[in-house]
Amino acid sequence: MTTPHANDAGSPAAQLRDGWNRSITNLRISVTDRCNFRCVYCIPEENIEWLPRGQLASLEELARIARIAVGLGVRRLRLTGGEPLLRKNLPSLVAELAALPGLDDIALTTNGTELPRLARDLADAGLERVNVSLDSLDRATFAKLAQRDLLPDVLAGIEAAVNAGLTPLSINCVVIRGTNDHEVVTFARFARERGFEVRFIEFMPLEHGQRWGEHALVPGRELRERIEAVFPLLPSPDQDPHAPSRDWVFADGAPGVMGFIDSVTAPFCDGCTRIRLTADGKLRTCLFSLNEHDLLGPIRAGASDEAVAKLLCAAVSTKELKHHITDGLFVKPQRTMSQIGG
Ligand code: SAM
Ligand code: SF4
Repeated sequence: MTTPHANDAGSPAAQLRDGWNRSITNLRISVTDRCNFRCVYCIPEENIEWLPRGQLASLEELARIARIAVGLGVRRLRLTGGEPLLRKNLPSLVAELAALPGLDDIALTTNGTELPRLARDLADAGLERVNVSLDSLDRATFAKLAQRDLLPDVLAGIEAAVNAGLTPLSINCVVIRGTNDHEVVTFARFARERGFEVRFIEFMPLEHGQRWGEHALVPGRELRERIEAVFPLLPSPDQDPHAPSRDWVFADGAPGVMGFIDSVTAPFCDGCTRIRLTADGKLRTCLFSLNEHDLLGPIRAGASDEAVAKLLCAAVSTKELKHHITDGLFVKPQRTMSQIGG
């Protein structure tokens, strides 16, 4: 075990590096905990306690934290939620973030329903790519998973994103055994026809309630084997070593990518470069963190940029080595995925 690396936030060359010598270059910003879906693997069905408006970080506060993080070496930002497109004036935040010097990439994860209204404004503001979550191409199965009968709206959102140039477009598909796993080859066909990347995400224990379990989890490897029985795959030559997704391309040269985010059965914690900011301004150093580091409180109390940078560095130095989902030491976080920002 190594000792936590000391961060010098006062130095202009200060970088976010955790106690395990991992460099933190990705920040995911949740802009709201609200959502118009009720995905069964994510959010409670009813009696949801949304964050009171006054506890939400303002767009200015989010932009300030992002600017400070970029000054400390963050190179990629992703906006998420809740449903990020429910946050008013999101394009203005995108414009502010896109103008930050030193940023390599700005992206968004969305359920897609508001893209017909917002895709063009987001692209004009400087958004580069979107990931649209889509768990089923069958209307009834979709409605069962999202608890909203909105598949046509999501498909319209995907078209709007493509037309606005928010590409390459990725589809996020959480797979649950007995619910949508039979659609994996249909998704492969969809990816080939449209040239999309479809990323299959293993169900993680971040849901409201107790749906998660071995019975519900479909290992990514099993999905890949099912696809390969129909469409042989080859490892992608463009694999990003730090990306959570292991990417495969079609052996026959058809367009499209099959990505597998095997967070449970093949964790990628060793190469993790990510931290998360919740919509109420708390920094989380891991999806599965049990502790959060408040940035918004100090900011509202008048903290300087330098003081916020020090808080960020101190938080990052405590980043967890790995998650414990499969080793018996796992404790489920209090907040659901929709509250953390996936
Ligand atoms: N509302 C947006 C959406 O659905 O794309 C953004 C927020 S959502 C929390 C981000 C991603 O987390 C989505 O792709 C969603 O499918 C995924 N997700 C939510 N709960 C999950 C869980 N328990 N296990 C795995 N992925 C999950
Ligand atoms: Fe909403 Fe996204 Fe969670 Fe579904 S996965 S409930 S769309 S936040």
